[in-house]
Parts: sequence; structure tokens; C-alpha cells
Amino acid sequence: MSANSLQARDAKSVVHGLTNLHLHAKRGATVIQSGEGVWVKDSNDKSYLEAMSGLWCISLGYGNKRLAEVAYRQMQELAYYPLTNHKSHPPVIALAEKLLSIAPSPMARIWFASTGSEANDCAARLSWYYWNAVGKPNKSKFISHKLAYHGNTIASGSLSGVSYAHKRFNLPLPGFFHVDTPHFTKNAHKGETEQDFVARLLANIEHLIEREGPETIAAFFVEPVMGAGGIVVPPNSYYEGLQKLLKKFNILLVCDEVVTAFGRTGNMFGSTTMQLEPDLLICAKALSSAYVPISALMINQRVYEAIERQSGELGLFGLTMTYSGHPVASAVALETLKIYEELDIVGHVRTISPLLLNGLHKLRNHPLVREVRGIGLLAGVELAEGYGVKCAQVAEELGLIVRAIGDTIAFCPPLIIQQKEVTVLLQRFEEALNTLKEN
Ligand code: PMP
Repeated sequence: MSANSLQARDAKSVVHGLTNLHLHAKRGATVIQSGEGVWVKDSNDKSYLEAMSGLWCISLGYGNKRLAEVAYRQMQELAYYPLTNHKSHPPVIALAEKLLSIAPSPMARIWFASTGSEANDCAARLSWYYWNAVGKPNKSKFISHKLAYHGNTIASGSLSGVSYAHKRFNLPLPGFFHVDTPHFTKNAHKGETEQDFVARLLANIEHLIEREGPETIAAFFVEPVMGAGGIVVPPNSYYEGLQKLLKKFNILLVCDEVVTAFGRTGNMFGSTTMQLEPDLLICAKALSSAYVPISALMINQRVYEAIERQSGELGLFGLTMTYSGHPVASAVALETLKIYEELDIVGHVRTISPLLLNGLHKLRNHPLVREVRGIGLLAGVELAEGYGVKCAQVAEELGLIVRAIGDTIAFCPPLIIQQKEVTVLLQRFEEALNTLKEN
């Protein structure tokens, strides 16, 4: 790193998440400077195929002029206005209506925030508020999965089931429980069928609920397909059984669709793909194709009715955030949803997805590959132990950005990726595997 390089300046000024900060001080950052479509360029003008959409988010790819223009126009028209004290503005109204019209199951209202973590946090808060409203104040505990990722605020970090969100951060808080990851090939006992596996996991959940007391459990959070936990598609019957259990014990179902919403799994929502009917649904990331931060929390009628009534009794709904329903973010999100429809993004994902998944499956006999999994444009290739980070590094040298989640290489390319770009992605990934095998 030369003294005044971007790397040196970054190392002296910026703190990076999901990064070894000690190593970073010596290694320096790869500084990404520009992007177009599925491609980004670094400060040395080296080009990379961005197969992770940044952090699972830039679904329309880089350089979308329409989104930039909408933001520019909205900033001139009305750059900011809060939704507090009975105020509103046209972009947030139109966006809320649009989201209600495409929701995967009937929803009554939308609450807006800026990030996935915040929206999950709000879902936890609203669960408490709801159970207080209906006279069950003891329903305060939460269940989610080991390896789930729901964010990194204090509540959403407690919901997350990954150790890096907890270790030395004094999390999870008490009252947050993590049950086994529904990953059949990894977590099944020897000789267990998929059916037996699902039955065992559901029995364990039922046991936990009974041990804690159903009257103390507020909500169960799920990602329809687990992303940051390593791309885990639960067995078909798992969610069917889970939803029966939650109904039996009167526990809210919260679907965290921060990664899966807006076409990623081959339907507009992962809840449709996995046949989930949530009480609360969270989306973010692809909601604005990551051009501006915005997240949304969909609330069904049963929950909203109680919230509305209670706020009337209290005289105020006390949840508020400065940027909730920000007009510029709302306008960009609305335009993003319009573009998805114009491009028939769901149809496009269904066409392109087999190219990616079949291409990765062809590599399953590679000596370094242990498992290939995925759905839609979300895929994971699990490598032999100890190869994940090395593979992501070699791929980056070869001009392909992927993410190592332990030893799983995750792929979540922009939804607009084309056939020839999938071919480049597969070629570079195979080359990375072969380079690793030889060394
Ligand atoms: N939920 C899921 C499923 C996620 O993948 C993420 C982020 N990767 C979050 C929540 C948190 O979103 P944010 O980083 O915007 O707070």
C-alpha cells in the first residue's frame, strides 16, 4: 500500500464489517470504483463479474439510469418528509399500495424502515406490541434457526443464529432461541429419511415450545430460503409442519424475505415458493435494487387491527424512525418494482436459473466439491473443508466476486444476468476450483 493510495487512506479511516480488521490494516481494501450491469471495476481498472449482487441486493445491476433519474426528480420535488403526526407524501402511498397488491398472502398495511435489520427489529417490537394488545403480555420469546441471518441490531442480531453476530457482542439477549437448521444433507442422522428428519426437527421445536410454555412464545422468524447461513433450501414438508405447529400454539410467523423477495427464488416472493403464509413479512435489498436504503414490513389484518386499536387506546403509536418511508427511497423502490414487471423478472429468473444451477451441478464431481444446492438465482457450492475463503480469493484474482460462507461459495448474481454472463461466471468459477486443486 503506497502512503496516499485509496487502500492506505481506507485502512486509516474506515471500519469494515465481516472483515478481519487486523488483517485489513495490512492487506488493504479492494476499492470498487464503478459498475455497469453485472460488472464492477476496481481502482486499478480491473473488471469483475459481481456474482453476489454486492450483499445479495443490487438485483437490477449497476448503472441503471432510470433509478438515478427518479431519485434526482424526487429530490427536487420533495427531498424529505416524515410520516409522523398524520403526515404523508405521494411516493410512499403509491409504494405501500403496490406492495399490498403484490404481497404473497393478504396483508393490511406496510411499515417502512431503512434496512433489513431495522425491519426485523420492528417485527420483533410489533410482535410484542400485538401480544400486549390482545391481552397476552407473556408472549415475549422468539424462535429462529441456527445459522439464520436476520440482521445485526440488538434484536435482529439476537434473532440471527450465526456466532459472529453474537460472540463478544453479548448476544443473543435472553428469550431468543435457535433451533436446528433444516439442512437435510448436512444435519440428518445416519440412515434418516427426509421425512424422518423433518419429523425430528418439528418434534424438537414442539418440545422447546412446551418446555418454555406456548403462552411465552411471541413469534417464529424464518428465511424462506436461508441465504447468509449458506444457501439452505428446507425440505418441502418442513414449513408445512412448522406452520401447523405455530397455529396450534398461537405463535406468529414472520418471514424474513430480505434476500428472497422480488424474484430471487423464481417467484415474486420466497413465501410463494416455499408455501408460507406469514403474519409479518420483511423485505429490503432488492426492494430498491439497493440504489437507496429502504425496507418494508408487511403486516396482516389480524395483527394490524390489534395494533391500530391499541394505539388508539394509548393515544399514539410510539414506533418512529426519521427515514421511515423516505420519499426518495420510496420513489426509487416504486420504479424498481415497475422495472421488474416490465422485464418480467420472474420469467427471466426462471429461464436463467437452470443455466446457473445445472452449470454448477456439473461441477459436483470435481474433487473439491462436496455439495451443490440452490433455487432460482441463489446457489451454494460447498467445498472440501478449509477451501471456502481460498476459493473466493482465487476467484477474485480471476475476476469473479463470490462470497465464502464457511466452506460454501455463495452465488446471488443480479437478476438481470444474461446467458453469456452466466457462462463467464461458470468458467471463472471452474478455473478457480482447478487452480486450487493444483496448488
Ligand atoms: N435478513 C436477511 C435474510 C439478510 O440476508 C440480511 C442482510 N444480509 C438482513 C436481514 C439484514 O439486512 P441489513 O443488512 O439491511 O440490515
